[in-house]
Amino acid sequence: AVRMEAVYKRFGDFAALSEVDLRVAKGERIVVCGPSGSGKSTLIRCINHIERHDEGLIYVNGFELKPEPKSVDLVRRETGMVFQSFNLFPHMTILENCILAPMSAHGLGRREAEDRAMALLEKVRIADQAKKFPIQLSGGQQQRVAIARALCMQPKIMLFDEPTSALDPEMVKEVLETMKGLANEGMTMLCVTHEMGFAREVADRIVFMDKGRIIEQAKPEAFFTAPQTERARHFLDQII
Ligand code: ATP
Ligand code: MG
Repeated sequence: AVRMEAVYKRFGDFAALSEVDLRVAKGERIVVCGPSGSGKSTLIRCINHIERHDEGLIYVNGFELKPEPKSVDLVRRETGMVFQSFNLFPHMTILENCILAPMSAHGLGRREAEDRAMALLEKVRIADQAKKFPIQLSGGQQQRVAIARALCMQPKIMLFDEPTSALDPEMVKEVLETMKGLANEGMTMLCVTHEMGFAREVADRIVFMDKGRIIEQAKPEAFFTAPQTERARHFLDQII
């Protein structure tokens, strides 16, 4: 589903990603972790072309990610993205947030877009809030709306960048449960998260980054019990 080959991303002289090789198969669930500044967000953002990589190749469902708008559109159609800050449009209701992109980008009629949105809001158990504005919802509810909104574009791959780290502890669980639900349905997922319980339970593979490089990739069991690098051992000591 995703293939990255020798990808570099620089900000000035600083390499935020160096020589990144990553393959994600269809239906695979990857958790990306690593210290702050190690390039996790940059990695995810390059896949969705929020950041443009400087070198190397990125393929998303067979489409090569090139700087042309056409290529970017094709790739964005395949991916849905959920951020730490929910990024809902504050002046629109929950339902309006969810139908905007399907109507403008997929050319859906309002009725069809609303039906699709309501079904997905139902799925994240928030359909009863559809007429409200984001500010009237809790953080956990807003994040579930953000997930439903991304799903309204019918992506084949979901990208999550610390979706629970801005939430109060009691709301983390409901968002993780929603993500688990998606995982159980076979969604291809790349999640940056510090929720190691989620990682253990859901991930097929853990990708550990340090200083812009992927320095370890392993099944959760192996990663948590026997990390191969000193850097990963140190990281795990600090967060678990
Ligand atoms: P965190 O856990 O804190 O979210 P991260 O692993 O997601 O960290 P990134 O946000 O990918 O790290 O950033 C990687 C490095 O690239 C950091 O050193 C950061 O300062 C730098 N960086 C990221 N975006 C930019 C930018 N737009 N301009 C300059 N430097 C940037
Ligand atoms: Mg980040």
